[in-house]
Amino acid sequence: MINLRREATVYALALAFLAILAVASYLIIDSIVTRQQHMASVLSVSGRQPMLSQRIALLGLEVADAKSPETCDQMQNQLRETVDLMRRSHRDLVEGSLALGIDPPKNKDLRAVYFSPPHDLNRKVTDFLIAADKVLDSIDQKAEAKTVHAAAQVVVLANSALLDSLAAAVSQYAADSEALFRQSQIRVLFVTAAMLIALTTEALFVFRPLFLRMRGLVDMAQSDPLTGCFNRRSLLEAAARDLSRSRRTGTPLSVILLDIDRFKKINDTYGHATGDAVIRTLTEIVKTTIRTADLLGRMGGEEFVVFLPDTNTVNAVLVAEKLRLLLEQAEVKHDAATLHFTASFGVAQMSEQDDDPLVLIERADAQMYRAKHAGRNCVRSPLTA
Ligand code: GH3
Ligand code: MG
Ligand code: MG
Repeated sequence: MINLRREATVYALALAFLAILAVASYLIIDSIVTRQQHMASVLSVSGRQPMLSQRIALLGLEVADAKSPETCDQMQNQLRETVDLMRRSHRDLVEGSLALGIDPPKNKDLRAVYFSPPHDLNRKVTDFLIAADKVLDSIDQKAEAKTVHAAAQVVVLANSALLDSLAAAVSQYAADSEALFRQSQIRVLFVTAAMLIALTTEALFVFRPLFLRMRGLVDMAQSDPLTGCFNRRSLLEAAARDLSRSRRTGTPLSVILLDIDRFKKINDTYGHATGDAVIRTLTEIVKTTIRTADLLGRMGGEEFVVFLPDTNTVNAVLVAEKLRLLLEQAEVKHDAATLHFTASFGVAQMSEQDDDPLVLIERADAQMYRAKHAGRNCVRSPLTA
């Protein structure tokens, strides 16, 4: 007995598991992409700081050296913007920025660059920006001598020590990015492997058995349980296809109907189990004798039908005669004894108007009755006198 509710539950669970895995892998890959994006923005912001420091030093000198008040204003504005940008960027790098997806320095090496000697970058940048502020303040105070002094101070601070430390931060971010990239590669590989393993496992242990059970169900619905050949319904379905193909191609099609002779007596004498053995023996013989394109079905009891495509009455009678002889010679064991049996055959050929296999079977049945009346164990067809 097949429990369909259980099958459906297993199938739904297997699909749900795959869906969960797909969502999980999407989330993992999405987080990897987001982290890579954040890393790219950290690299871009930190990579810009050395350039900004040099620009500030240059603008400081230019502003101190400005010949006209207009040039001085212009330079001062540029200097203020650049100082603001470098200060904002530094704050984003040190404190983190939600908008840019930047985290404050977390790992030991990066914290060392920012907060410990020899680099002590946080202090160096803060001092540098304070010095730049002094240039801007001195211009506001119109204290020219102060400006020159402050600008010189900025140039001193913007020396290679600051540049080296800014570069150290950049290379530390680059190293972190590299490590993150490798870690991401491993995660993507892991997710892909997990998906493949899950798919293969489910294909082997869920979907394949399910498919086999479904095929078993289809076979069961189509075949006769005692003999394994077509049952009445599936034989008529398959025969209807053969019939329409023959009509389309204009090729002949014949049917043989056979019925075991005095089968009731076999049952009564040897018992039902031996009767079943006779039916199975007959099926085996017919199956191995007919062609693969021919259809064998059990119409009920001890009555069988064979549809023979591309076969006219003459050839169908030859097949029936061959089967009759083989059945006559067959032996079925019953305890120590061996029993024989025979069958009567009726043959009919499809006519142009035939579009229902049952009509053809009825004509073969009429011929089979002629065979019974003629004394059984013989073949009758419209060609037989
Ligand atoms: P005839 O030569 O005129 O065909 O005589 P018969 O005895 O073969 O015909 P009848 O229709 O009187 O008997 C058929 C018997 O087949 C009756 C039924 O109990 C038996 N039968 C039907 N199906 C099965 C089956 O699956 N197994 C067995 N062992 N017997 C079956
Ligand atoms: Mg019979
Ligand atoms: Mg019968």
